[in-house]
Amino acid sequence: EEDLALVERGELGLEDLQEQETRPVVAVVGRPNVGKSSLVNRVLGRREAVVEDVPGVTRDRVAYDAEWSGRRFTVVDTGGWEVDATGIHLRVAEQAEVAVELADVVVFVVDATVGATDTDEQVVRLLRRSGKPVVLAANKVDNQAQEAEAAMLWSLGLGQPWPVSALHGRGSGDVLDAVLAVLPERSSVIGAYPRGGPRRVALLGRPNVGKSSLLNKLAGTERVVVDNVAGTTRDPVDELIELGGKTWRFVDTAGIRRRVHQTRGADFYASLRTQAALEKAEVAVVLIDVSESIAEQDIRVIQQVVDSGRALVVGYNKWDMMDEERQYYLEREIERELVQITWAPRVNISATTGRAVHKLVPALETALDSWDRRIPTGRLNAFLGEVVAGHPHPVRSGKQPRILFATQASTRPPKFVIFASGFIEAGYRRFLERRLREQFGFEGSPIEISVRVRE
Ligand code: GDP
Repeated sequence: EEDLALVERGELGLEDLQEQETRPVVAVVGRPNVGKSSLVNRVLGRREAVVEDVPGVTRDRVAYDAEWSGRRFTVVDTGGWEVDATGIHLRVAEQAEVAVELADVVVFVVDATVGATDTDEQVVRLLRRSGKPVVLAANKVDNQAQEAEAAMLWSLGLGQPWPVSALHGRGSGDVLDAVLAVLPERSSVIGAYPRGGPRRVALLGRPNVGKSSLLNKLAGTERVVVDNVAGTTRDPVDELIELGGKTWRFVDTAGIRRRVHQTRGADFYASLRTQAALEKAEVAVVLIDVSESIAEQDIRVIQQVVDSGRALVVGYNKWDMMDEERQYYLEREIERELVQITWAPRVNISATTGRAVHKLVPALETALDSWDRRIPTGRLNAFLGEVVAGHPHPVRSGKQPRILFATQASTRPPKFVIFASGFIEAGYRRFLERRLREQFGFEGSPIEISVRVRE
């Protein structure tokens, strides 16, 4: 919001805004107490700017703005979460995994005075699998005499260990230089740590459902076109549109306004374009033409949104053509075809008359709130404890898996990890998801539950 005001006053160019959105991400991972946070503070100097401070019992990841040698990037600190005494290895790996997935470069911090531990080895395997560039920081090397200890960490097979003393600052410049050497110009994980710019919306649906009409209705004449990358085949165009007192970024609108030629393979290209728009978006509005039956193609677009993990609002368009009989059949079709997204907010609109179009913004906000939502670990486990006590997993061949612990590993969309003592049946997982939604809502957002079996 503030950034946009700056853009409008000419104090911040659109290029700057884009630079912010594509700023590369550096994740700092490692065991608790190896000095990750001290190193992050060292990198930041005093000018700390929290990008995303996640509230809750466990502070899983915190992102900051950072700058070194004229390069700007986001630093993600994975330190500061409470260590579960019985599950330390798993939890470290879990947190590291998410942070690594959302990073362009990883700084792996090892305590040189302790040397490589089993947990460190475990993280190394994960880092290798990720294929991301890794800079190995051998921390707590407070003086030259200790540098031999850092050299021992060559054994991890991650290349040169950079001796550093996060506490005194010794060597931290070298670590940063090593990071810059492998840091890409633009992030490949755009949107993982948003810069507080306008929320990004994809307007989707099969041809003729009314996307272009709705976009025109919403944008009126005051549309601002950004991102006009001329000469590329995809030619993405984003538009900044003011709705409900806020600016929204409608992504990839070129294909909506300019009719794409309907030729052979059009379906394939349509789905590719949908995918491209989803990559850039945080929330999708899928339009359905109520004057026709819900089609295979409508379901496919919705499925793409769910699979991409984006928030979802469904717009039933051309409602001005609705009559009693058609509505009867439509409701049956929705019950039959769209049961898997009963959680998505629904708005019955008319792009041509403008009917209920103002209801889109609250629906988008609800969906995005859910998408961003984090349930504190304490609340989550208290709730799960009750659910499981009232309705335990069925006994199979004399065995009954127990739910040990759960945590929300990430947001956007919310992802939960449940640790169990044995295999959890699909039916029971669905039951847990249903209860989770009943308790916490998540209207408009897909949620994901994965189970880790611990012997
Ligand atoms: P797109 O291919 O999804 O962008 O669809 P368009 O916006 O081009 O609309 C396809 C056709 O449906 C056009 O003839 C529009 O005038 C018509 N249309 C779009 N929205 C509505 C609506 O709400 N009511 C009615 N009656 N017609 C609509």
